[in-house]
Order: sequence, then C-alpha cells, then structure tokens
Amino acid sequence: MSTTERPRILVVGGGYVGLYAARRILKKMRYGEATVTVVDPRSYMTYQPFLPEAAAGSISPRHVVVPLRRVLPKAEVLTGRVTTIDQDRKVATIAPLVGEAYELPFDYLVIAMGAVSRTFPIPGLAEQGIGMKGIEEAIGLRNHVLEQLDKADSTTDEEVRRKALTFVFVGGGFAGAETIGEVEDMARDAAKYYTSVSREDMRFILVDAADKILPEVGPKLGAYGKEHLEARGVEVYLSTSMDSCVDGHVVLKNGLEVDSNTIVWTAGVKPNPVLSRFGLPLGPRGHVDTRTTLQVQGADYIWAAGDNAQVPDLVGRKAGNENAWCPPNAQHALRQARVLGDNVISGMRGFPQKEYSHANKGAVAGLGLHKGVAMIVMGKMKIKLKGRLAWYMHRGYHGMAMPTWNRKIRVFADWTLAMFLKREVVSLGAIETPREEFYEAAKPAPAAAAAKAEPAAPAKTEEKAKAS
Ligand SMILES: Cc1cc2nc3c(=O)[nH]c(=O)nc-3n(C[C@H](O)[C@H](O)[C@H](O)COP(=O)(O)OP(=O)(O)OC[C@H]3O[C@@H](n4cnc5c(N)ncnc54)[C@H](O)[C@@H]3O)c2cc1C
Repeated sequence: MSTTERPRILVVGGGYVGLYAARRILKKMRYGEATVTVVDPRSYMTYQPFLPEAAAGSISPRHVVVPLRRVLPKAEVLTGRVTTIDQDRKVATIAPLVGEAYELPFDYLVIAMGAVSRTFPIPGLAEQGIGMKGIEEAIGLRNHVLEQLDKADSTTDEEVRRKALTFVFVGGGFAGAETIGEVEDMARDAAKYYTSVSREDMRFILVDAADKILPEVGPKLGAYGKEHLEARGVEVYLSTSMDSCVDGHVVLKNGLEVDSNTIVWTAGVKPNPVLSRFGLPLGPRGHVDTRTTLQVQGADYIWAAGDNAQVPDLVGRKAGNENAWCPPNAQHALRQARVLGDNVISGMRGFPQKEYSHANKGAVAGLGLHKGVAMIVMGKMKIKLKGRLAWYMHRGYHGMAMPTWNRKIRVFADWTLAMFLKREVVSLGAIETPREEFYEAAKPAPAAAAAKAEPAAPAKTEEKAKAS
C-alpha cells in the first residue's frame, strides 16, 4: 500500500463498474493528481455474461476473467473486502485475505460491489444449491454435471442413476435460461461418448415463479425461448417455485417431486448486503440511493453505480414513468462506469457533474451452440431475432464487450478452435481436492502408523489398524 499525500479515490469492488471506472479515472487524471485504490476480494474482474459459456466449456474459464493488476498498472490494487465505511473520518476498514483488518483513509469513494444471489429460506437450498455469479461456480457446475454422467454410467443402481441424470435450474432470467441452454447442449454432446447414457436418459428442469422466461428480451422472444428449450426436451415449469430440496429431493409448488444431485439457483440477485454497514442511504430493496449524477444522495464525494445502486432512469422518466430505475445489467454498468469516472474527476476539480442517461439498446441471449434470441432497439423500432442469427449477435456483442483486447482475442480464438475441434467433455472434478491422492500416498501405512502410536499394547494396535 502506498503512503501518499495525494487525495485517494477509493474504488470498492473491481467488477464491471469498478474496473471501468478506475480505468476512466486513470485515463483522465493528470499525473500525480490522485491515488486510485481498487479493493476487491478477488484479484480479477469476471465478465459474468460469459459464465454460461464457461460452464459449457465453449470458452476457457481463464479467458472470462481479467486480472486487475495487469489492466490497472497505475492503480493500487488491494485484495480484500471492505467491511465498513466511517464517513465522519473518511476511513474504510479492509479485511485482507489473511491477517488483521486495517483502516484506509480516502477522499473520494466509489461504491461498486455489485449484487449477490437472492435466496429464500428454502429447506435444503444452502446445502444443495449452486449459484452462477462467479467463475468458480461455472467451473464447479461443469465438472459436477460431467461427473454425474460418469456416475450414471458406472452404477447399476437405477435410483442413483436417475438422481445423477436429473438437473434442476431455478430461475429463468438471463443467467438461468442461458445456463440451462448451454449445459444441456454440453451434456447432449458429452452423452455421445457414453455407451449407457443418452440424452433421453437425462431430465433437465427449469422452474420460474414468473409466468415467462427471459423477461429481458420481451414476451414474444421469451415465449420463443421457452418453446425452443421445450423442443430440446427441457421441462419448463412457470408460475411455480421450489418448496424444498432436502438431500436433493426437490419439491415444487405445482406438486412435482424429483430427486436430483444438481440444483442450480439463478432466481435473481440482490444488492450486496454489506452495504447496510456503510451508513449510506439505501432504497427499499437495499440499493445505494443515487442521484442522476451517480452521486450518493446527500454525499457529494461518494458515487455508486451498477448492480448495487438504484440509478434513476432518465429516459424512462422522460417517457412518463416517474419511478423508472436503470435495470441491473452489463449494458448500464459499463456506461454508468464511464460517466461515474468523469464525474469523480470533475468532483475533484470542482467542476459540475454530468447526468447519466442511456436508452436501452436491446438484449441478446445465447441458449447453446447456434441457438439464441436477440432484441435490438433502433430508435422506435424493435428488431427481434431468433436462432442462429441471434446467436451470432450474442457472440458478436459480448465478444466485443469483453474488456481488453487480450481477452477479446482469447475468447474469439476459443470460438474459432471450437469450429474445428470437438468440444472438451472431460470432468476435472478432482481439481477441487488436489492434495487427496498425494495425501493417500504420503500417509503412513495403517499397520506402521498403529504400531508407532501404540507399541506396548498389541491388542489395541490391531483394533486401531482396522479402524484406520
Ligand atoms: C450468469 C450471468 C449472466 C449475465 N448475462 C448478462 C447479459 O447477457 N447481459 C447483460 O447486460 N448483463 C448480464 N448479466 C449482468 C451483469 O453481469 C451485471 O449487471 C454486471 O456485472 C454488474 O456490474 P457490477 O460492477 O455492478 O457488479 P460485479 O461485476 O458483480 O462486480 C462487483 C465486484 O465487487 C466485489 N465485491 C463484493 N463484495 C466486496 C467487498 N465487501 N469489498 C470489495 N469488493 C467487493 C466483487 O468481488 C466483484 O468483483 C449477467 C449476470 C450473470 C450473473
């Protein structure tokens, strides 16, 4: 950590908003004008729209993340969590990965901590569920799904096999619909290599409490997305929810009961709950309440944007909706970050603030290889696309939106290679316990260990050896 007399701009969170805001500030700043400090528990930014493709093995997981220190060489990047903010003293408390928490003074503050999975107290969910917010979850899900095929192939127990081959996804927004689309596609591909597992043996279930999926692309394309998934054999249950999933026994409100080893929870997000410790004004759902300039209400030196902020939607308000707020998506996060960066510089120099205003440009969603839906807004026109063309739009848009040329090139290279080579369908689940095999090899042989522990009592030694 540098000790400096310069004012410090503290950016809390190095995700979409944090990364782009810090880059913008560093680009516009005069040499030595301020120290930009970015704090995040991860040393990388994750491009979340690519998590479903990473889960399906279409993009290498490393190419979906951007190392903060490399992309922000002029910033001070600290790996840790901001746990509290003291506004009177202008000090943040940081809990590093290891060691004692410490205090860091700041002059200007950017709050960009994003959102976390929104869950409900459903019995079994905490123990059985997996989310889709981070690259770790995408890798974990991919390995887990492929491992289920291995399990099903290896067992003679029909119940175990059925449970392994049943996959339940709760939540049909971007994250849920794209993830089930991609994972079903991968599992279908992988099944070709098994003699005793076929796609027909697998059961994919998508559940949503709303009466439609993919609300982001509008009702018509959402309906198409549902029909498309159903045509691929996915069971879609709408206007229902999951009541419990204790030990993998899933019970839906509509009466359906299935056993499953795989419960993917993508039923929405909520603002990072840590915000409640910062003493900032929060909206009814826990977002930081900002003005149109992205400044936090009542605090001229604090800005917030992205999934953790409620930002007035000026376009919606001009159209007559007084309560319009910007939706939490990458499209707004990127643009808000730029305006926020400019406003921090202006705030530091005593210049007026710019208002944030952006008209929705549409939405694209991929549902597996060569399958997708897209809604492009051009002025008053809404162009709706589906199938292969929409999928190209999805890849083109997100490929170009991926931060840094290094990562754009790697992502496009992954896609290009996949056109010529078959998809990689190996499960590396053991990656989560890399020391297990070495531990088994290195631990003393049972008899020797027991003999060393109890040399004087032969009867007991025998007992211990049996137990170990
Ligand atoms: C699976 C999935 C698919 C998506 N697909 C699309 C899509 O197709 N199109 C689209 O527009 N949007 C999509 N989104 C939404 C989009 O990714 C988010 O809106 C965007 O990432 C929000 O950016 P953010 O900076 O607010 O939050 P994030 O990018 O989540 O960044 C928040 C950062 O804060 C850090 N942080 C958390 N707690 C602390 C703490 N205590 N101290 C310091 N740092 C902290 C986190 O580690 C993280 O790096 C998708 C999201 C998901 C999960």
